[in-house]
Amino acid sequence: MQYVSTRGSAPALGFEDVTLAGLASDGGLYLPERWPGFSPGDIRALAGLSYVETAVRVMAPFVAGSLSPEELRDLCEAAYGRFSHDAVTPLVQLDHRHWMLELFHGPTLAFKDVALQLLGQLFERFLSRRDDHLTIVGATSGDTGSAAIDAVAGREKIDIFMLHPDGRVSDVQRRQMTTVRAPNVYNIAIDGSFDDAQALVKAMFNDAGFSRRFNLSAVNSINWARLMAQVVYYFYAAVRLGAPEREVAFSVPTGNFGDVFAGYVAAQMGLPVAKLMVATNVNDILHRALSEGDYSQGQVMPTATPSMDIQVSSNFERLLFDAGGRDGKALADQMRGFEADKAMCLTNAQRDGASRLFTSARVDADGMTMAMRWAYDAAGQVVDPHSAVGLAAARGLDLDPSIPVVTLATAHAAKFPDAVERATGTRPALPSRMGDLFAREESYAKLPCTFEAVTAYVAERATPQR
Ligand SMILES: *Cc1c(COP(=O)(O)O)cnc(C)c1O
Repeated sequence: MQYVSTRGSAPALGFEDVTLAGLASDGGLYLPERWPGFSPGDIRALAGLSYVETAVRVMAPFVAGSLSPEELRDLCEAAYGRFSHDAVTPLVQLDHRHWMLELFHGPTLAFKDVALQLLGQLFERFLSRRDDHLTIVGATSGDTGSAAIDAVAGREKIDIFMLHPDGRVSDVQRRQMTTVRAPNVYNIAIDGSFDDAQALVKAMFNDAGFSRRFNLSAVNSINWARLMAQVVYYFYAAVRLGAPEREVAFSVPTGNFGDVFAGYVAAQMGLPVAKLMVATNVNDILHRALSEGDYSQGQVMPTATPSMDIQVSSNFERLLFDAGGRDGKALADQMRGFEADKAMCLTNAQRDGASRLFTSARVDADGMTMAMRWAYDAAGQVVDPHSAVGLAAARGLDLDPSIPVVTLATAHAAKFPDAVERATGTRPALPSRMGDLFAREESYAKLPCTFEAVTAYVAERATPQR
């Protein structure tokens, strides 16, 4: 499989190169040159398969040429063997129509483990093939950071520098990053918002000299391999609810548009997806873009769902490219316009292409709280605030009631105990395997939000290329 950039001028690359590069050299994001197709028979054949076996079938076409199915199976076994639930991503029924797909049984209690545990394995395999070294630089609104650090801590050929917005991630989220004591892990608290931190990371990648000197790589969801890993659980869940004979809808608490884009990929591959609900909090750029065509950046407002407090959704570019007719040159112009004006209008082709599958909703604090209470009262389920945003949107979905609606449960409630206690009166406990998180010692640097400060810090500690 070859991959092309959304901005049309970077060279096409194979899966191994795309995984190690993250961002394309023209500033775009990589996508497969065509979607692999699964026939109804192929989908039917997934019935009853384990998560790992499903993962191998779904991902094999994407890694063809870089990994054999046997190699892929080994990496999936290593990655998903670390999950605390045998089903990896179990489904839980809430009422006759609504389901939750629990994606938080990995080591750091958020869905990002599903992709990052695999990405850690892929990095190690590809770097040892090449005898190469990587410097991972990333920005996190909370969950990516801990999941990425867990996935690469202690690996010899990788250093990781993770920026988080100081004071804007939960205590559990921060401690899951800053208590990991491995010589290749560096945590940096930035005096700014998540978008500021992400802009710094982008600037480091755009500095070609710096990027080459330290062989920078990304673990943010701009990395194609992450999205690929997330496609798997759409198949896994839909098959359990009757696909390919029956359509299934998904509601996805959305920030960077990675998770819900994986649902779009599943649909392009032939999975019968009735609708994809893009659920946002009050940081609603995606809701405005999908409902009105207005993609304009607002001020980030801090909420109880920090992993969705985002005003620029990197992966949206992938949808604009694919739904808008895959014209890289035109999209590069459009994105340059957005970077200059902080606003753009979607083209008619982009709007029409998106509206076939996507719908969207903006959920405020009250809506989130009511959904948490409903899940608790109706089904005895304690859900985290992010999942509750998804659930609130799912319950408002206007769809044939015979279609099952799956809300992606993106984090364990114990990651956000204060908000959950406020809504339900119940304080969720950390699973026992996390028990001593608050006793462990933290270590991190606090840096001003400037390119100079952060690059100087990284340059002093990273391993330069030979
Ligand atoms: C990252 C995250 C999201 C948003 O996912 P995107 O792929 O960025 O849209 C939602 N909920 C939780 C708990 C997350 O960690």
